[in-house]
Amino acid sequence: MSTVDLVDYDEAVRRFDPVIGIEVHVELGTRTKMFDAAPQTFGAEPNTAVTPVSLGLPGALPVVNGTAVEYAIRIGLALNCQIAETCRFARKNYFYPDVPKNFQTSQYDEPIAFDGHLDVELEDGTVFRVEIERAHMEEDAGKNTHVGGSTGRIQGAEYSLVDYNRAGIPLVEIVTRPIVGAGERAPEVARAYVQTLRDIFRALEVSEARMERGNVRADVNVSLRPTPESPLGTRTETKNVNSFRSVERAVRYEISRQAAVLDEQGTVIQETRHWHEDTGITTSGRVKSDAEDYRYFPEPDLVPVAPSREWVEEIRANLPELPAARRRRLQAEWGYSDPEMRDVINAGAVELIEATVAAGSSPAAARKWWMGELARTAKTQEVELAELPITPAQIGQLQQLVDAGRINDKLARQVLEGVLAGEGDPEQVVVARGLEVVSDDGPLLEAIDAALAAQPDIAEKIRSGNLGPVGAIIGSVMKATRGQADAGRVRELVLERVNG
Ligand code: ADP
Ligand code: MG
Repeated sequence: MSTVDLVDYDEAVRRFDPVIGIEVHVELGTRTKMFDAAPQTFGAEPNTAVTPVSLGLPGALPVVNGTAVEYAIRIGLALNCQIAETCRFARKNYFYPDVPKNFQTSQYDEPIAFDGHLDVELEDGTVFRVEIERAHMEEDAGKNTHVGGSTGRIQGAEYSLVDYNRAGIPLVEIVTRPIVGAGERAPEVARAYVQTLRDIFRALEVSEARMERGNVRADVNVSLRPTPESPLGTRTETKNVNSFRSVERAVRYEISRQAAVLDEQGTVIQETRHWHEDTGITTSGRVKSDAEDYRYFPEPDLVPVAPSREWVEEIRANLPELPAARRRRLQAEWGYSDPEMRDVINAGAVELIEATVAAGSSPAAARKWWMGELARTAKTQEVELAELPITPAQIGQLQQLVDAGRINDKLARQVLEGVLAGEGDPEQVVVARGLEVVSDDGPLLEAIDAALAAQPDIAEKIRSGNLGPVGAIIGSVMKATRGQADAGRVRELVLERVNG
């Protein structure tokens, strides 16, 4: 692979205005496929989840999956789109082995949803509005596996296998209008947009939306122009970018690469490009087909889809709470400040805190644990918060032990350590490690007397009314009880002892 010149990112965005466009495909989690009753499965034996329709056998006739239409409408409504009164499917003709019919049934000029927008919140709280051109229904292709080459691509392969289990799975493709005005933050906007969409798919319960399974796939279009006033430049389309981080990296890389191309040759070619996860670069794919190459025409085997206005309104009325609204509600319920809530969101801790509060912790305490001690542990171990071997229920239990006065904050940290080390629930760790606060005055008084006897000058000062050194005595008692004393109670007892 030849090395490509890149312009340093900061310089590229100083000299050019990036414009991006994102196409997101989401696989809908319906029981059956888009146009036939073949089941949707993941990981089944190849070519077992098929019918004559998904195999494109002659004479097989498609039928539209009503649930898929409902899911597409849900998505359209959540993205503030208009829902078409009537729309049709079209045949997008091309020959490739993963498309057994030699055409993909898609929507072309009559999408089910159009003219929407999505407000995307960036990590620092800035809200960026992304305009949605359309969301249309289509079917997924099968999956080719190229065997024998070193790259897994068709070039150099000895033979190819094709699995039609995925062929015909319902997809919704969401296409943005060109996203302008993001400037140097274009890569971040791209990632935040895809992430926000993923959260919406999950909230709408239209898809499991697992990026790593390819349930959500993004194609990122990027172009540069000299200034924000210039006409749009020529775009490249980087296909199938399958993680949030990769979306950001791919946009960033294309900006640096196109800047170098413009500097040297003056023109970018309109083409599709492949994203290489391992090296973080894109390479040339094929010269982009224009729509006319696909010879689109209306699908004659399917009737138009005409969702009644009553049905659309019913779906709208039953939309679940969307992530942005939910976060606003939780923030109000929890009484977090904007920066506190943002940190919680960025740490991926919203669900964890919600579950911890449900398990009996106060919102403030839940945040303290997840964003403090546990965030530090996760960082050291380089894992996500949710991957730590501790559950919200256990944090709830821990906090209840603190609230009940059975352990103090310092002991709670040791309990936490025990839970993380796999020693069981907080209660079990407290018992096994003997960490309970000493609530019996007897042992406390013993420790106090010993401390006073060891430091007679301090005892004298306290007796003469100078309360400054009480802390030193409390410190000694804490040490003697391995931190298991209630400092407030120790203070009371010290004063009683000295004055009484
Ligand atoms: P295609 O059929 O080539 O995939 P689509 O219309 O489905 O075309 O999607 C193209 C995407 O690229 C859209 O999100 C669109 O807004 C975006 N786009 C169009 N022109 C440009 C451009 N000059 N620079 C960046 N993005 C663009
Ligand atoms: Mg497209």
